[in-house]
Amino acid sequence: MSKEITSRSADYSQWYNDLVIKGSLADYSAVRGCMVIKPYGFALWENMRDALDKMFKDTGHVNAYFPIFIPKSLFEAEEKNAEGFAKECAVVTHYRLKGDPAHKGKLIVDPEAKLEEELVVRPTSEAIIWNTYKNWIQSYRDLPILINQWANVVRWEMRTRLFLRTAEFLWQEGHTAHATAKEAVAEAEQMLHVYADFVENWMALPVIKGLKTESERFAGAVETYCIEALMQDGKALQAGTSHFLGQNFAKAFEVKFSDKENKLDYVWATSWGVSTRLIGALVMAHSDDEGLILPPKIAPHQVVIVPIYKGEESKPVIDAKAKALAAELKAAGIRVKFDDNDNTRPGWKFAEYEMKGVPVRIAIGARDIENNVAELARRDTREKTSVSLDGLAARVIALLDEIQQAIYNKALAYRDEHITRVNSWDEFVKVLNEKGGFVSAHWDGTAETEEKIKEQTKATIRCIPLDNAQEEGVCVLSGKPSKQRVLFAQAY
Ligand code: AMP
Repeated sequence: MSKEITSRSADYSQWYNDLVIKGSLADYSAVRGCMVIKPYGFALWENMRDALDKMFKDTGHVNAYFPIFIPKSLFEAEEKNAEGFAKECAVVTHYRLKGDPAHKGKLIVDPEAKLEEELVVRPTSEAIIWNTYKNWIQSYRDLPILINQWANVVRWEMRTRLFLRTAEFLWQEGHTAHATAKEAVAEAEQMLHVYADFVENWMALPVIKGLKTESERFAGAVETYCIEALMQDGKALQAGTSHFLGQNFAKAFEVKFSDKENKLDYVWATSWGVSTRLIGALVMAHSDDEGLILPPKIAPHQVVIVPIYKGEESKPVIDAKAKALAAELKAAGIRVKFDDNDNTRPGWKFAEYEMKGVPVRIAIGARDIENNVAELARRDTREKTSVSLDGLAARVIALLDEIQQAIYNKALAYRDEHITRVNSWDEFVKVLNEKGGFVSAHWDGTAETEEKIKEQTKATIRCIPLDNAQEEGVCVLSGKPSKQRVLFAQAY
């Protein structure tokens, strides 16, 4: 297979697909809209998952698991949520196949094995979880419940794209239950901050925290908080959401608790999720025309050691030194791979690990060993330096930190250059067409205007930033009064 990558300037979308496929993150599958996550991509996901999981546990959450199937009657209970997801649901209607009498070796759905009640394959789990919480919650002593689940979900998306939007995806979904609205809001906000912290500090991707408008809100939520990131083509991506669900699900499933005064009230809820979409964000935000650029903190391999053999006789010496070096780095807590495969040449390996975004490459040959040095190359800037083998682990640790920070700074500079304040409709359209990114503009607060803007420019309101200053102005489209700016962008 050719390792040639389409350049970003030639075809951004093809560039992205090339990186995902040729960077060994994922593969297409036999199922429309579903992908295979390959071992390298899964190792990346595991690192992300482990870091997030620790953050969830540090904020008091525990993991549990609920069924993938939701009886249709339960799914219908919270009407808005059901309506919002109805168009994307896969539904199980039968539980058995049988031999096809007309074609030997073929199977047909057994009409006698029709389920009495259809099962919805979960697009999100509020319904099954709140139906369970009903049995777990009687009094204020049973609250709060702070549960997270790592799972797969299915949303029958019409237009799919590897990682960013797939019909089946992996995610985590937190579902919490509280005695007061205030506590639930605090939880939804806390988890938004946890997501922002993770995406910024682990994925090296700056995000804007905000609130969704009513039309972009999660179906069944009172308020949806989100983090929005910017990709290198100037399009935005919703990177995570945290919902304050009010008492909507408690009312739908009759989940009441008695408070300290013995008064009955409905329970307050939140839910929050991030998905494998984050891998897509990572690829789109940092990588270049040579391949992936992965932040060291989550890269499956932080360092790869490539031996440079010149003739058979040098091999044992180089291997011994490289292995000792790998052991030294590993002991210092670095994820290191020693590639001693002698079927491929160093140049091929260099290209391969650049493609895979390994942050640091160490090349070592016989001459280097004589001089007690190695060649250190960083993936993000592709700079190479010759360094002493003494104290190399400490040097690599410092370099990994430096790379993590440099990747973040680069993405931050790009993002900040691409937030443009506009005051007229002409400017609004011009910025979207010519520059892209976030457009900060006044909006009259109506869904009607929001929809018109979307129709005319494909830009949606990404969020009302949490740190928004109040500012008197007029809506860019309708000219009606507005009290604050919101962020628009074309988005994935
Ligand atoms: P939601 O439940 O709609 O708030 O989505 C929770 C998280 O899953 C958000 O971070 C979304 O960006 C992400 N997400 C939603 N739909 C998809 C999809 N089809 N593929 C991958 N991630 C998704």
